[in-house]
Amino acid sequence: MELVTTAPALVPYDEVLDRYDPVLGLETHVELGTVTKLFCGCSTVFGADPNTQVCPVCLGLPGSLPVTNEKAIEFSIRIGLALNCSIAEWCRFARKNYFYPDMPKNYQVSQYDEPLCVEGYLEVPGPGGEIYRVEIERVHLEEDTGKTLHVGGATGRIHGATHSLVDYNRAGIPLVEIVTKPLAGTAKAAADVARAYVTELRDLLRGLGVSDVRMEQGSLRCDVNVSLMPKGAAELGTRSETKNVNSLRSVERAVRYEVERQGARLDAGERIVQETRHFHEDTGTTSPGRSKEEAQDYRYFPEPDLVPLAPARDRVEQIRATVPEPPSVRRAQFAAANGFTTLDLEQMTNAGVLDLVEQTIAAGAVPAKARAWWMNTLAAAANERGVEVADLAITSAEVARIAALEDEGVLTNTLARQVVEKVLDGEGPPDAVIETHGWRVAGEDELVAAVEAAIAAQPDLAAKVREGNQGAVGPLVGAVMKATGGSADARRARELLMERLGS
Ligand code: ADP
Ligand code: MG
Ligand code: ZN
Repeated sequence: MELVTTAPALVPYDEVLDRYDPVLGLETHVELGTVTKLFCGCSTVFGADPNTQVCPVCLGLPGSLPVTNEKAIEFSIRIGLALNCSIAEWCRFARKNYFYPDMPKNYQVSQYDEPLCVEGYLEVPGPGGEIYRVEIERVHLEEDTGKTLHVGGATGRIHGATHSLVDYNRAGIPLVEIVTKPLAGTAKAAADVARAYVTELRDLLRGLGVSDVRMEQGSLRCDVNVSLMPKGAAELGTRSETKNVNSLRSVERAVRYEVERQGARLDAGERIVQETRHFHEDTGTTSPGRSKEEAQDYRYFPEPDLVPLAPARDRVEQIRATVPEPPSVRRAQFAAANGFTTLDLEQMTNAGVLDLVEQTIAAGAVPAKARAWWMNTLAAAANERGVEVADLAITSAEVARIAALEDEGVLTNTLARQVVEKVLDGEGPPDAVIETHGWRVAGEDELVAAVEAAIAAQPDLAAKVREGNQGAVGPLVGAVMKATGGSADARRARELLMERLGS
Protein backbone atom coordinates (compact mmCIF):
# COMPACT_ATOMS: atom_id res chain seq x y z
CA MET A 1 0.00 0.00 0.00
CA GLU A 2 1.23 3.44 -0.85
CA LEU A 3 1.49 5.86 2.04
CA VAL A 4 0.60 9.41 1.15
CA THR A 5 1.56 11.99 3.73
CA THR A 6 0.23 15.48 3.39
CA ALA A 7 1.41 18.26 5.63
CA PRO A 8 -1.34 19.97 7.61
CA ALA A 9 -2.47 23.20 5.99
CA LEU A 10 -2.31 25.06 9.29
CA VAL A 11 -0.56 24.64 12.63
CA PRO A 12 -2.12 26.36 15.67
CA TYR A 13 -0.79 29.89 16.26
CA ASP A 14 0.64 29.31 19.75
CA GLU A 15 2.34 26.11 18.65
CA VAL A 16 4.02 27.85 15.70
CA LEU A 17 5.23 30.67 17.91
CA ASP A 18 6.76 28.26 20.40
CA ARG A 19 9.27 27.47 17.67
CA TYR A 20 9.39 30.53 15.40
CA ASP A 21 9.75 34.28 15.88
CA PRO A 22 7.30 36.37 13.88
CA VAL A 23 8.35 39.56 12.08
CA LEU A 24 5.77 42.14 11.01
CA GLY A 25 5.82 44.93 8.49
CA LEU A 26 2.85 47.25 8.12
CA GLU A 27 2.21 49.54 5.18
CA THR A 28 -0.72 51.81 5.88
CA HIS A 29 -2.43 53.93 3.27
CA VAL A 30 -4.42 56.89 4.45
CA GLU A 31 -6.55 59.09 2.21
CA LEU A 32 -6.08 62.69 3.24
CA GLY A 33 -9.15 64.74 4.05
CA THR A 34 -8.32 67.60 1.69
CA VAL A 35 -11.22 69.31 -0.06
CA THR A 36 -9.64 68.79 -3.48
CA LYS A 37 -7.44 66.14 -5.08
CA LEU A 38 -3.63 66.09 -5.04
CA PHE A 39 -2.97 67.61 -8.45
CA CYS A 40 -6.28 69.14 -9.56
CA GLY A 41 -9.32 70.92 -8.18
CA CYS A 42 -11.72 67.94 -8.25
CA SER A 43 -13.77 67.16 -5.15
CA THR A 44 -12.76 64.30 -2.86
CA VAL A 45 -16.21 63.72 -1.29
CA PHE A 46 -16.95 60.01 -0.83
CA GLY A 47 -19.96 58.31 -2.37
CA ALA A 48 -20.71 60.54 -5.38
CA ASP A 49 -22.02 59.02 -8.63
CA PRO A 50 -19.23 57.29 -10.57
CA ASN A 51 -16.99 59.51 -12.70
CA THR A 52 -18.63 62.79 -11.65
CA GLN A 53 -15.52 64.06 -9.83
CA VAL A 54 -12.99 63.96 -12.63
CA CYS A 55 -11.17 66.37 -14.93
CA PRO A 56 -8.46 66.20 -17.63
CA VAL A 57 -5.70 66.19 -14.97
CA CYS A 58 -6.93 63.26 -12.87
CA LEU A 59 -8.04 61.42 -16.02
CA GLY A 60 -4.52 61.84 -17.38
CA LEU A 61 -5.67 63.40 -20.65
CA PRO A 62 -2.88 64.57 -22.96
CA GLY A 63 -1.76 68.14 -22.46
CA SER A 64 -3.03 68.45 -18.89
CA LEU A 65 -0.58 69.52 -16.20
CA PRO A 66 -0.66 68.84 -12.44
CA VAL A 67 -0.32 71.45 -9.69
CA THR A 68 0.46 70.18 -6.18
CA ASN A 69 -2.14 70.76 -3.47
CA GLU A 70 -0.36 72.65 -0.69
CA LYS A 71 -2.73 71.34 1.97
CA ALA A 72 -1.78 67.77 1.10
CA ILE A 73 1.89 68.59 1.64
CA GLU A 74 1.08 70.24 4.96
CA PHE A 75 -1.00 67.22 6.10
CA SER A 76 1.82 64.84 5.12
CA ILE A 77 4.35 66.86 7.10
CA ARG A 78 1.93 66.89 10.05
CA ILE A 79 1.78 63.11 9.94
CA GLY A 80 5.55 62.82 9.65
CA LEU A 81 6.11 65.11 12.63
CA ALA A 82 3.54 63.31 14.77
CA LEU A 83 5.40 60.07 13.97
CA ASN A 84 8.71 61.61 15.09
CA CYS A 85 10.14 61.60 11.55
CA SER A 86 12.68 63.94 9.99
CA ILE A 87 11.23 66.04 7.21
CA ALA A 88 13.23 66.09 3.99
CA GLU A 89 14.75 69.44 3.08
CA TRP A 90 14.25 68.60 -0.54
CA CYS A 91 12.49 65.73 -2.25
CA ARG A 92 10.69 64.82 -5.42
CA PHE A 93 7.72 63.01 -6.78
CA ALA A 94 8.45 60.03 -9.01
CA ARG A 95 6.51 58.21 -11.69
CA LYS A 96 5.74 54.59 -10.89
CA ASN A 97 4.98 53.04 -14.25
CA TYR A 98 2.57 50.15 -14.60
CA PHE A 99 -0.56 49.39 -16.52
CA TYR A 100 -3.82 48.91 -14.72
CA PRO A 101 -7.25 50.05 -15.92
CA ASP A 102 -8.00 51.95 -12.70
CA MET A 103 -4.99 54.17 -13.31
CA PRO A 104 -5.76 56.49 -16.19
CA LYS A 105 -2.23 57.74 -16.81
CA ASN A 106 -0.53 54.31 -16.83
CA TYR A 107 1.71 55.65 -14.11
CA GLN A 108 1.11 56.71 -10.57
CA VAL A 109 2.68 59.86 -9.21
CA SER A 110 4.31 58.68 -6.00
CA GLN A 111 7.59 59.08 -4.17
CA TYR A 112 10.43 56.63 -4.55
CA ASP A 113 13.92 57.10 -3.14
CA GLU A 114 13.17 60.64 -1.95
CA PRO A 115 10.23 60.42 0.47
CA LEU A 116 8.98 63.49 2.33
CA CYS A 117 9.39 62.02 5.85
CA VAL A 118 11.81 59.36 7.11
CA GLU A 119 13.02 57.61 10.27
CA GLY A 120 10.33 57.96 12.89
CA TYR A 121 8.58 55.78 15.42
CA LEU A 122 5.24 55.20 17.11
CA GLU A 123 4.85 53.83 20.62
CA VAL A 124 2.05 51.31 20.80
CA PRO A 125 0.45 49.84 23.93
CA GLY A 126 0.45 46.04 23.60
CA PRO A 127 -2.12 43.62 24.97
CA GLY A 128 -0.39 43.19 28.34
CA GLY A 129 0.14 46.92 28.82
CA GLU A 130 3.77 46.87 27.65
CA ILE A 131 4.84 49.44 25.10
CA TYR A 132 6.12 48.39 21.67
CA ARG A 133 8.20 50.91 19.79
CA VAL A 134 7.36 50.53 16.11
CA GLU A 135 10.04 52.07 13.90
CA ILE A 136 8.75 53.98 10.90
CA GLU A 137 10.84 53.77 7.76
CA ARG A 138 9.12 56.37 5.61
CA VAL A 139 6.01 58.45 5.11
CA HIS A 140 5.42 59.47 1.54
CA LEU A 141 2.74 61.12 -0.52
CA GLU A 142 1.17 59.69 -3.67
CA GLU A 143 -2.07 59.77 -5.63
CA ASP A 144 -4.78 57.18 -5.16
CA THR A 145 -6.03 55.10 -8.08
CA GLY A 146 -9.59 54.71 -9.34
CA LYS A 147 -11.82 51.82 -8.33
CA THR A 148 -12.68 48.79 -10.43
CA LEU A 149 -15.96 46.96 -10.01
CA HIS A 150 -16.10 43.43 -11.43
CA VAL A 151 -19.66 42.55 -12.41
CA GLY A 152 -21.40 39.24 -13.03
CA GLY A 153 -19.34 36.92 -10.82
CA ALA A 154 -20.36 35.54 -7.46
CA THR A 155 -17.41 36.87 -5.50
CA GLY A 156 -16.94 40.35 -6.92
CA ARG A 157 -13.48 39.28 -8.05
CA ILE A 158 -12.36 39.41 -11.64
CA HIS A 159 -12.51 35.62 -11.98
CA GLY A 160 -15.97 34.70 -13.19
CA ALA A 161 -16.96 38.30 -13.91
CA THR A 162 -18.61 39.15 -17.25
CA HIS A 163 -17.35 42.74 -17.37
CA SER A 164 -15.70 45.41 -15.26
CA LEU A 165 -16.59 49.04 -14.55
CA VAL A 166 -14.14 51.73 -13.57
CA ASP A 167 -14.86 54.74 -11.38
CA TYR A 168 -12.19 57.45 -11.46
CA ASN A 169 -13.60 59.60 -8.65
CA ARG A 170 -10.91 58.24 -6.33
CA ALA A 171 -8.10 58.70 -8.87
CA GLY A 172 -5.84 61.50 -7.71
CA ILE A 173 -7.03 61.71 -4.11
CA PRO A 174 -3.97 62.35 -1.94
CA LEU A 175 -2.80 59.20 -0.27
CA VAL A 176 -0.11 59.00 2.38
CA GLU A 177 1.73 55.73 2.80
CA ILE A 178 3.27 54.98 6.18
CA VAL A 179 5.76 52.11 6.10
CA THR A 180 7.22 50.47 9.20
CA LYS A 181 10.61 48.84 9.47
CA PRO A 182 10.48 45.11 10.12
CA LEU A 183 9.14 44.69 13.65
CA ALA A 184 10.58 41.72 15.56
CA GLY A 185 10.22 40.68 19.17
CA THR A 186 6.44 40.58 19.44
CA ALA A 187 6.32 36.76 19.89
CA LYS A 188 2.78 35.56 20.64
CA ALA A 189 1.55 39.14 20.91
CA ALA A 190 2.21 39.63 17.16
CA ALA A 191 -1.43 39.61 16.04
CA ASP A 192 -2.49 41.88 18.90
CA VAL A 193 0.42 44.26 18.36
CA ALA A 194 -0.39 44.54 14.65
CA ARG A 195 -3.95 45.49 15.52
CA ALA A 196 -2.82 47.82 18.31
CA TYR A 197 -0.45 49.59 15.92
CA VAL A 198 -3.16 50.28 13.38
CA THR A 199 -5.53 51.36 16.17
CA GLU A 200 -2.95 53.75 17.61
CA LEU A 201 -2.07 55.09 14.16
CA ARG A 202 -5.76 55.61 13.36
CA ASP A 203 -6.28 57.53 16.62
CA LEU A 204 -3.19 59.61 15.96
CA LEU A 205 -4.33 60.47 12.42
CA ARG A 206 -7.80 61.33 13.64
CA GLY A 207 -6.33 63.60 16.29
CA LEU A 208 -4.27 65.35 13.62
CA GLY A 209 -7.42 66.14 11.64
CA VAL A 210 -5.83 64.98 8.39
CA SER A 211 -8.24 62.18 7.48
CA ASP A 212 -11.58 60.71 8.48
CA VAL A 213 -9.71 57.37 8.86
CA ARG A 214 -12.75 55.26 8.02
CA MET A 215 -11.50 51.77 7.34
CA GLU A 216 -14.91 50.60 6.10
CA GLN A 217 -14.85 53.31 3.40
CA GLY A 218 -11.25 52.56 2.52
CA SER A 219 -9.80 55.86 3.69
CA LEU A 220 -7.45 53.81 5.90
CA ARG A 221 -6.20 50.48 4.58
CA CYS A 222 -3.35 48.27 5.45
CA ASP A 223 -0.95 45.83 3.79
CA VAL A 224 0.16 43.29 6.36
CA ASN A 225 3.61 41.70 5.89
CA VAL A 226 4.41 38.64 7.97
CA SER A 227 7.38 36.33 8.08
CA LEU A 228 8.68 33.69 10.46
CA MET A 229 12.19 32.75 11.42
CA PRO A 230 13.35 29.87 13.58
CA LYS A 231 13.79 31.10 17.15
CA GLY A 232 17.16 32.71 17.57
CA ALA A 233 17.87 32.96 13.84
CA ALA A 234 19.82 35.97 12.64
CA GLU A 235 18.27 36.35 9.22
CA LEU A 236 14.72 37.41 8.46
CA GLY A 237 12.45 34.85 6.83
CA THR A 238 10.61 35.39 3.55
CA ARG A 239 7.49 37.51 3.96
CA SER A 240 4.03 37.38 2.52
CA GLU A 241 2.15 40.65 1.99
CA THR A 242 -1.61 40.52 2.58
CA LYS A 243 -3.08 43.49 0.67
CA ASN A 244 -5.81 45.97 1.49
CA VAL A 245 -6.92 44.69 4.85
CA ASN A 246 -9.68 47.04 5.88
CA SER A 247 -10.72 46.51 9.46
CA LEU A 248 -8.82 46.31 12.74
CA ARG A 249 -10.15 42.83 13.37
CA SER A 250 -9.01 41.71 9.93
CA VAL A 251 -5.48 42.97 10.58
CA GLU A 252 -5.32 40.75 13.64
CA ARG A 253 -6.87 37.77 11.84
CA ALA A 254 -4.60 38.14 8.81
CA VAL A 255 -1.49 37.95 11.01
CA ARG A 256 -2.91 34.99 12.87
CA TYR A 257 -3.71 33.11 9.69
CA GLU A 258 -0.36 33.82 8.03
CA VAL A 259 1.50 32.60 11.13
CA GLU A 260 -0.51 29.36 11.07
CA ARG A 261 -0.08 28.86 7.33
CA GLN A 262 3.61 29.72 7.14
CA GLY A 263 4.31 27.65 10.27
CA ALA A 264 2.79 24.60 8.57
CA ARG A 265 4.85 25.18 5.41
CA LEU A 266 8.11 25.61 7.28
CA ASP A 267 7.45 22.58 9.46
CA ALA A 268 6.96 20.54 6.30
CA GLY A 269 10.34 21.70 5.03
CA GLU A 270 8.82 23.89 2.34
CA ARG A 271 9.91 27.43 1.63
CA ILE A 272 7.71 30.50 1.79
CA VAL A 273 7.05 32.16 -1.55
CA GLN A 274 7.34 35.94 -1.53
CA GLU A 275 3.95 37.01 -2.81
CA THR A 276 1.01 39.30 -2.22
CA ARG A 277 -2.09 37.64 -0.77
CA HIS A 278 -5.79 38.50 -0.53
CA PHE A 279 -7.63 38.45 2.79
CA HIS A 280 -11.10 36.89 2.91
CA GLU A 281 -13.35 38.45 5.54
CA ASP A 282 -15.82 35.56 5.54
CA THR A 283 -13.33 32.80 6.34
CA GLY A 284 -10.49 34.76 7.93
CA THR A 285 -8.08 33.16 5.44
CA THR A 286 -5.67 34.48 2.82
CA SER A 287 -5.08 33.25 -0.72
CA PRO A 288 -2.24 33.87 -3.14
CA GLY A 289 -2.22 36.99 -5.29
CA ARG A 290 0.71 37.97 -7.40
CA SER A 291 4.17 36.50 -6.92
CA LYS A 292 6.92 38.95 -6.01
CA GLU A 293 9.77 36.55 -6.74
CA GLU A 294 10.84 38.70 -9.66
CA ALA A 295 10.44 42.26 -8.52
CA GLN A 296 8.19 44.13 -10.91
CA ASP A 297 10.09 46.82 -12.79
CA TYR A 298 8.20 50.05 -12.22
CA ARG A 299 10.80 52.11 -14.13
CA TYR A 300 10.66 54.87 -11.54
CA PHE A 301 11.92 58.25 -12.65
CA PRO A 302 11.53 61.79 -11.28
CA GLU A 303 8.18 63.32 -12.26
CA PRO A 304 9.08 65.89 -14.92
CA ASP A 305 5.80 67.84 -14.72
CA LEU A 306 6.22 68.83 -11.07
CA VAL A 307 8.74 71.00 -9.26
CA PRO A 308 10.65 69.37 -6.36
CA LEU A 309 9.31 69.81 -2.83
CA ALA A 310 11.51 71.87 -0.54
CA PRO A 311 9.50 72.59 2.62
CA ALA A 312 10.92 75.72 4.27
CA ARG A 313 12.27 74.98 7.76
CA ASP A 314 10.27 77.75 9.40
CA ARG A 315 7.11 76.37 7.78
CA VAL A 316 7.92 72.92 9.17
CA GLU A 317 8.38 74.43 12.63
CA GLN A 318 5.05 76.28 12.30
CA ILE A 319 3.36 72.99 11.53
CA ARG A 320 5.17 71.24 14.40
CA ALA A 321 3.79 73.84 16.80
CA THR A 322 0.24 72.83 15.88
CA VAL A 323 0.70 69.06 16.22
CA PRO A 324 -1.50 67.97 19.13
CA GLU A 325 -0.47 65.73 22.02
CA PRO A 326 -0.12 62.07 21.00
CA PRO A 327 -3.07 59.76 21.72
CA SER A 328 -1.35 58.28 24.79
CA VAL A 329 -1.20 61.71 26.45
CA ARG A 330 -4.76 62.53 25.44
CA ARG A 331 -5.90 59.19 26.85
CA ALA A 332 -4.21 59.96 30.17
CA GLN A 333 -5.94 63.37 30.31
CA PHE A 334 -9.28 61.78 29.48
CA ALA A 335 -8.79 59.19 32.24
CA ALA A 336 -7.91 61.82 34.81
CA ALA A 337 -10.90 63.99 33.88
CA ASN A 338 -13.33 61.08 34.21
CA GLY A 339 -11.92 59.15 37.14
CA PHE A 340 -10.73 56.12 35.16
CA THR A 341 -7.77 54.07 36.33
CA THR A 342 -4.88 52.98 34.10
CA LEU A 343 -6.39 49.50 34.05
CA ASP A 344 -9.82 50.86 32.98
CA LEU A 345 -8.10 52.76 30.21
CA GLU A 346 -6.15 49.75 29.04
CA GLN A 347 -9.24 47.57 29.01
CA MET A 348 -11.28 50.14 27.10
CA THR A 349 -8.45 50.63 24.59
CA ASN A 350 -8.05 46.90 24.03
CA ALA A 351 -11.80 46.46 23.68
CA GLY A 352 -11.83 49.27 21.09
CA VAL A 353 -14.47 51.25 22.98
CA LEU A 354 -12.50 54.25 24.21
CA ASP A 355 -13.85 56.67 21.60
CA LEU A 356 -17.36 55.36 22.14
CA VAL A 357 -17.15 55.81 25.89
CA GLU A 358 -15.78 59.33 25.35
CA GLN A 359 -18.64 60.19 23.01
CA THR A 360 -21.20 58.70 25.39
CA ILE A 361 -19.85 60.83 28.23
CA ALA A 362 -19.94 63.85 25.93
CA ALA A 363 -23.61 63.01 25.28
CA GLY A 364 -24.27 63.39 29.01
CA ALA A 365 -23.70 59.95 30.56
CA VAL A 366 -21.96 59.40 33.91
CA PRO A 367 -18.42 58.18 33.03
CA ALA A 368 -18.59 54.93 35.02
CA LYS A 369 -21.98 54.10 33.49
CA ALA A 370 -20.81 54.89 29.97
CA ARG A 371 -17.83 52.61 30.50
CA ALA A 372 -19.98 49.80 31.91
CA TRP A 373 -22.45 49.89 29.03
CA TRP A 374 -19.76 49.61 26.37
CA MET A 375 -17.50 47.16 28.19
CA ASN A 376 -20.28 44.79 29.24
CA THR A 377 -23.61 44.78 27.40
CA LEU A 378 -22.44 46.24 24.10
CA ALA A 379 -19.13 44.34 23.91
CA ALA A 380 -21.09 41.13 24.48
CA ALA A 381 -23.64 42.11 21.82
CA ALA A 382 -20.86 42.80 19.32
CA ASN A 383 -19.24 39.49 20.13
CA GLU A 384 -22.53 37.64 19.60
CA ARG A 385 -23.05 39.34 16.27
CA GLY A 386 -19.42 38.89 15.18
CA VAL A 387 -18.90 42.61 14.47
CA GLU A 388 -16.70 45.38 15.84
CA VAL A 389 -18.25 47.22 18.79
CA ALA A 390 -17.93 50.44 16.82
CA ASP A 391 -20.04 48.93 14.01
CA LEU A 392 -23.02 48.12 16.23
CA ALA A 393 -26.23 49.79 15.08
CA ILE A 394 -26.46 52.07 18.08
CA THR A 395 -25.10 55.58 18.54
CA SER A 396 -23.30 56.93 21.59
CA ALA A 397 -26.18 59.40 22.03
CA GLU A 398 -28.63 56.48 22.17
CA VAL A 399 -26.52 54.71 24.77
CA ALA A 400 -26.39 57.92 26.80
CA ARG A 401 -30.18 58.22 26.53
CA ILE A 402 -30.73 54.66 27.78
CA ALA A 403 -28.27 55.22 30.64
CA ALA A 404 -30.16 58.40 31.58
CA LEU A 405 -33.53 56.62 31.53
CA GLU A 406 -32.10 53.99 33.87
CA ASP A 407 -30.68 56.64 36.20
CA GLU A 408 -34.03 58.43 36.31
CA GLY A 409 -35.69 55.15 37.26
CA VAL A 410 -37.78 55.03 34.09
CA LEU A 411 -36.09 51.75 33.15
CA THR A 412 -34.73 48.96 35.33
CA ASN A 413 -31.35 47.61 34.31
CA THR A 414 -33.05 44.53 32.81
CA LEU A 415 -35.41 46.69 30.76
CA ALA A 416 -32.58 48.99 29.72
CA ARG A 417 -30.67 46.02 28.36
CA GLN A 418 -33.75 44.88 26.47
CA VAL A 419 -34.07 48.35 24.96
CA VAL A 420 -30.45 48.10 23.80
CA GLU A 421 -31.17 44.77 22.09
CA LYS A 422 -34.17 46.20 20.28
CA VAL A 423 -32.26 49.26 19.13
CA LEU A 424 -29.55 46.93 17.81
CA ASP A 425 -32.24 44.92 16.04
CA GLY A 426 -33.27 48.04 14.19
CA GLU A 427 -36.50 48.83 16.00
CA GLY A 428 -35.60 52.51 16.19
CA PRO A 429 -34.25 54.88 18.83
CA PRO A 430 -34.69 54.09 22.55
CA ASP A 431 -37.78 56.21 23.15
CA ALA A 432 -39.57 54.64 20.20
CA VAL A 433 -38.70 51.13 21.43
CA ILE A 434 -40.02 51.92 24.92
CA GLU A 435 -43.21 53.36 23.43
CA THR A 436 -43.75 50.35 21.12
CA HIS A 437 -43.32 47.79 23.87
CA GLY A 438 -44.99 49.81 26.61
CA TRP A 439 -41.86 49.36 28.71
CA ARG A 440 -41.35 51.47 31.75
CA VAL A 441 -40.80 50.85 35.42
CA ALA A 442 -43.90 50.14 37.48
CA GLY A 443 -44.92 53.20 39.49
CA GLU A 444 -44.90 53.16 43.29
CA ASP A 445 -48.69 52.58 43.57
CA GLU A 446 -48.62 49.63 41.21
CA LEU A 447 -45.67 48.23 43.11
CA VAL A 448 -47.34 48.57 46.53
CA ALA A 449 -50.44 46.82 45.21
CA ALA A 450 -48.34 43.97 43.81
CA VAL A 451 -46.41 43.65 47.08
CA GLU A 452 -49.60 43.43 49.09
CA ALA A 453 -51.09 40.91 46.69
CA ALA A 454 -47.96 38.76 46.91
CA ILE A 455 -48.08 38.72 50.70
CA ALA A 456 -51.77 37.85 50.70
CA ALA A 457 -51.27 35.06 48.17
CA GLN A 458 -48.42 33.41 50.03
CA PRO A 459 -49.05 33.72 53.78
CA ASP A 460 -46.61 30.86 54.63
CA LEU A 461 -43.70 32.63 52.99
CA ALA A 462 -44.73 35.93 54.56
CA ALA A 463 -44.75 34.26 58.01
CA LYS A 464 -41.25 32.86 57.47
CA VAL A 465 -39.93 36.31 56.59
CA ARG A 466 -41.58 37.73 59.73
CA GLU A 467 -39.77 35.06 61.75
CA GLY A 468 -36.49 36.38 60.35
CA ASN A 469 -35.95 33.96 57.45
CA GLN A 470 -34.58 36.45 54.91
CA GLY A 471 -34.24 33.80 52.21
CA ALA A 472 -38.01 33.48 52.01
CA VAL A 473 -38.35 36.98 50.60
CA GLY A 474 -36.85 35.92 47.25
CA PRO A 475 -39.94 34.10 45.94
CA LEU A 476 -42.11 37.04 47.04
CA VAL A 477 -39.95 39.46 45.04
CA GLY A 478 -40.31 37.04 42.14
CA ALA A 479 -44.10 37.15 42.48
CA VAL A 480 -44.03 40.98 42.41
CA MET A 481 -41.84 40.95 39.30
CA LYS A 482 -44.25 38.54 37.62
CA ALA A 483 -47.32 40.58 38.57
CA THR A 484 -45.76 43.74 37.09
CA GLY A 485 -44.62 42.03 33.91
CA GLY A 486 -40.97 42.46 34.88
CA SER A 487 -41.28 46.22 35.04
CA ALA A 488 -40.73 46.54 38.79
CA ASP A 489 -37.52 47.77 40.34
CA ALA A 490 -36.56 44.58 42.22
CA ARG A 491 -34.62 46.43 44.91
CA ARG A 492 -37.56 48.68 45.71
CA ALA A 493 -39.91 45.64 45.73
CA ARG A 494 -37.68 43.92 48.27
CA GLU A 495 -37.59 47.08 50.43
CA LEU A 496 -41.39 47.34 50.42
CA LEU A 497 -41.79 43.65 51.29
CA MET A 498 -39.32 43.96 54.17
CA GLU A 499 -41.05 47.07 55.49
CA ARG A 500 -44.43 45.34 55.49
CA LEU A 501 -43.11 42.13 57.02
CA GLY A 502 -41.39 44.03 59.82
CA SER A 503 -38.02 42.56 58.97
P1 ADP B 1 6.83 46.39 -1.11
O1 ADP B 1 6.97 47.47 -2.11
O2 ADP B 1 7.18 45.05 -1.60
O3 ADP B 1 5.51 46.41 -0.44
P2 ADP B 1 8.00 47.87 1.03
O4 ADP B 1 9.45 48.04 1.34
O5 ADP B 1 7.21 49.04 0.60
O6 ADP B 1 7.94 46.69 -0.03
O7 ADP B 1 7.27 47.28 2.29
C1 ADP B 1 7.61 46.09 2.86
C2 ADP B 1 7.13 46.04 4.30
O8 ADP B 1 7.45 44.77 4.84
C3 ADP B 1 7.83 47.05 5.17
O9 ADP B 1 6.96 47.42 6.23
C4 ADP B 1 9.00 46.25 5.71
O10 ADP B 1 9.45 46.72 6.95
C5 ADP B 1 8.39 44.90 5.89
N1 ADP B 1 9.32 43.79 5.77
C6 ADP B 1 10.45 43.72 5.05
N2 ADP B 1 11.03 42.51 5.20
C7 ADP B 1 10.22 41.79 6.02
C8 ADP B 1 10.27 40.47 6.54
N3 ADP B 1 11.24 39.63 6.24
N4 ADP B 1 9.26 40.07 7.35
C9 ADP B 1 8.26 40.89 7.64
N5 ADP B 1 8.17 42.14 7.20
C10 ADP B 1 9.14 42.60 6.38
MG1 MG C 1 3.77 47.21 -0.36
ZN1 ZN D 1 -9.40 66.19 -11.43
